Amino acid sequence: MAPILEIRNLYKSFGSVDVLKNINVSIDPGDFVVLVGPSGCGKSTLLNCIAGLEPITRGTIEIAGEDMTDVPARDRDIAMVFQSYALYPTMSVAQNITFGMRVRGIDRETREKKLAEVARLLKIEPLLDRRPKQLSGGQRQRVAMGRALVREPKLFLFDEPLSNLDAKLRVEMRAEIRRLHQRLSTTIVYVTHDQIEAMTLATKIAVMKAGEVHQIGKPKEIYERPVNMFVADFIGSPS
Ligand code: ADP
Ligand code: MG
Repeated sequence: MAPILEIRNLYKSFGSVDVLKNINVSIDPGDFVVLVGPSGCGKSTLLNCIAGLEPITRGTIEIAGEDMTDVPARDRDIAMVFQSYALYPTMSVAQNITFGMRVRGIDRETREKKLAEVARLLKIEPLLDRRPKQLSGGQRQRVAMGRALVREPKLFLFDEPLSNLDAKLRVEMRAEIRRLHQRLSTTIVYVTHDQIEAMTLATKIAVMKAGEVHQIGKPKEIYERPVNMFVADFIGSPS
């Protein structure tokens, strides 16, 4: 099976600071890759580069076998969910979810059908006429996911989507995201600093430090056979 995402020799610098160094990652269709690493190690920057929101300094990014290195974000067939939700405050929930489809010229009937589908899937049907400020944090996060889901992208990127939620809601939403992944058999790259979230969601974990991916593999492999002390410490492997 051809990889859905293939990153080769990717470097990214801001000014003279190298933030990502020689990233090589290959992700298969259906993978749920969880990216972990200390704050400031480059996780968000890597997602932004994959999404096309940041230009890269060197290297290539292929999506489903096509070179996307110089393709703008809107043409990459990727949907991203941010920690901050980034909802449009003046639009209703329904408008937030369908806006992107309107921009892409998708007809009204299809828009309404997809809206109804994701609203059911995410259990936000009673909220469709509300504005973001009339929603709880968990509800906003569902709307942000709904907006990503209606795009039916080849690849979903999640940047710490649950870190603004309280512990109980986080556990609930984690289970929900796992169900969505299984049900839609989609591919996800997911950043978190929560080890439990990483271990329970991932089909593969990628461990980053200071702009480099130190190890990528199945959670069990990483836990049992960390390649170095840093990975062992970070994952909490028995020493
Ligand atoms: P993480 O998501 O792992 O916490 P980031 O990708 O946000 O890390 O940041 C990685 C490094 O790049 C940090 O040192 C950060 O200060 C720096 N950085 C991120 N965005 C920018 C930017 N737009 N301009 C300059 N430096 C940045
Ligand atoms: Mg970040």
